[in-house]
Amino acid sequence: MRIGAHVEPADPLAEAAARGADVVQFFLTDPQAWTDPEPRADADALRAADVDLYIHAPYRINVATLNNRIRIPSRKLLLSHARAAADLGAKGLIVHGGHVDKGHDVATGFENWKKTFEYAAKEGGFPLPILVENTAGGDNACARRFDALARLWDTIGEYGAGFCLDTCHAFAGGEELLGIVDRVKAITGRIDLIHANDSRDPFDSGRDRHDNLGRGTIDPELIVAVIRAAGAPAVVETPGGAEGQGADITLLRDGLAA
Ligand SMILES: [Zn+2]
Repeated sequence: MRIGAHVEPADPLAEAAARGADVVQFFLTDPQAWTDPEPRADADALRAADVDLYIHAPYRINVATLNNRIRIPSRKLLLSHARAAADLGAKGLIVHGGHVDKGHDVATGFENWKKTFEYAAKEGGFPLPILVENTAGGDNACARRFDALARLWDTIGEYGAGFCLDTCHAFAGGEELLGIVDRVKAITGRIDLIHANDSRDPFDSGRDRHDNLGRGTIDPELIVAVIRAAGAPAVVETPGGAEGQGADITLLRDGLAA
């Protein structure tokens, strides 16, 4: 199983080396900005590296919302980041499932997801897998609780969407980790990537605060079991830089080898 970390974007290959990571995930722009990615000077090196690359889309993206001023730019930004990610040879672009605002029907959010894939198809299609990630909070989320995830997949599954399972988001979002891989796969048919994170908050708290493995509220053996069952690469999105994340990677590797 290939294990790695979410790292700073300036020199992802150096960050990978510092952690002994097989996989790195990073942002192509400021994650809080509405900015199309710029070409990278290290693109050739990234393409040639034997480290697997995953790109995380900006947090601002919410393709589900009924708010036109967020939804329309979100679609465009998702496509521009997908193109830039594919140009670097990335294996997937991770984007949060999104939500509709209070008082709006989440069914419209699922339809807006479908329109996002239809928009991309008209523009030539997404050039790499779009990995929809489960989220921790909110009552109107498209991919927090798995009853909603199932309705989302009924709508977008035919477009070849992939899935990224975040263990912190699942736990804090109120989905038990025991047996979760089977429950997800019964809905999506696939898990492309695991975000292997501990949670600082209790089960079903709805809060999204990652912690180093074994330091939060999740039994680290459960996280190892999720990766083993999924048979998917895993990325830690945990604090502590090379030292903290390196220890998390070691914990996962030791757990998987045991
Ligand atoms: Zn995540």
